[in-house]
Amino acid sequence: MYEFPDALAVVRALSPDDPITLLRPHAAQRAARFFTEKFPGKSLYAVKANPSPQLLQLLWDSGITHFDVASLGEVRLVHKFLPDASLCFMHPVKSERAIAQAYHNHGVRVFSLDSHDELDKIVRATSKDGVTATDLELCVRIRVSSDHAKLSLAAKFGADPADVASLLAATRQVADCLGICFHVGSQAMSPQAYSDAMDLVRAAIVEASVVVDIIDVGGGFPSVYPGMEPPVLESYFDVIERCFEDLPISYSAELWCEPGRALCAEYASLLVKVEKRRGKELYVNDGAYGALFDAAHIGWRFPVIALNPETNINVRMTEFSFYGPTCDDMDFMPGPFILPDDMGAGDYIEIGMLGAYGCAMRTEFNGFGDVDTVTVGDEPMASLYTQIAANDIGEKQNSANMSKQ
Ligand SMILES: *Cc1c(COP(=O)(O)O)cnc(C)c1O
Repeated sequence: MYEFPDALAVVRALSPDDPITLLRPHAAQRAARFFTEKFPGKSLYAVKANPSPQLLQLLWDSGITHFDVASLGEVRLVHKFLPDASLCFMHPVKSERAIAQAYHNHGVRVFSLDSHDELDKIVRATSKDGVTATDLELCVRIRVSSDHAKLSLAAKFGADPADVASLLAATRQVADCLGICFHVGSQAMSPQAYSDAMDLVRAAIVEASVVVDIIDVGGGFPSVYPGMEPPVLESYFDVIERCFEDLPISYSAELWCEPGRALCAEYASLLVKVEKRRGKELYVNDGAYGALFDAAHIGWRFPVIALNPETNINVRMTEFSFYGPTCDDMDFMPGPFILPDDMGAGDYIEIGMLGAYGCAMRTEFNGFGDVDTVTVGDEPMASLYTQIAANDIGEKQNSANMSKQ
């Protein structure tokens, strides 16, 4: 893979007609080390955020040994590239065959569930010759609020509070290790999301009066985007640790988390070219069916930097929206994306913070989707790990323009 100092160097060297994914391995390594050193328990990487094999390897090399997988495809992928990794199948609704293959062929022992039906399914799929498995680690997923998160995960999964006690008791009967897991929603903007959820965990343990071996606080750890600047991650870790220590569980119980976004948002950005301008709308060569699904469908704002070498620093900034390259009206990203007012056809833009739920969601709809990848050595546009905040992006924009003059 080619390595460049930054996006502008890529534009100068390649003048690319197709979008290019820019990878920052150092940013993913830094995030992984932060979690492995500072989270007061074990960090499982949630593979769906970005399943790229290079990223899996980077995280493994930086101390992440456990992976939260949600499909047989993800089980196979991680098992193939990291044969020694521990896989945790944390989708609460699985096919019986997927459970059986994960258990018998890929060594998976950790499964989540949120219903008695799923528990029965897991027991059936993992028994052999009529003998029930004795090495299952089963996590009951409870439903918690997504009130503090930008993306709700409260509707689809999680045992109803009324069923939790009986489900915990039934799961205890067949599990070697019993866990409780939850997900506070993605991009949780306050540590209170976790303390509120831990209150529900405590109530469930007291009501069921079972011995619990694992508390898994799930994902939801935030990254930095325009208009979304969360408190420092240490404050989340402190709240979680305090709540964990207050739970009525044995001293040997383990604390787990499942970060997706926080481990890889800073890992990748995207270089796009402007093909046309119409008023305040820029037609760019990637979009809703590429790496910008969230920008289109839930109006997520990503930071942008203009890479036009001729941009004059005195040009004022303007709010733009983007159209993507497909022939679909829905291929529209409202933004607003703040860029110099003189943007036009032929200019390049770097769109930041797309390592999580960006690059992973690309399709080939309409013949687009063929994207090259290069490595760059500069810092991501914002970082939770270096104090670069989203409101410094304007500063970086100015210094980028100055260095071009
Ligand atoms: C998506 C998901 C995660 C990761 O969530 P982030 O908000 O990206 O941290 C973790 N656990 C489960 C079960 C998930 O579905």
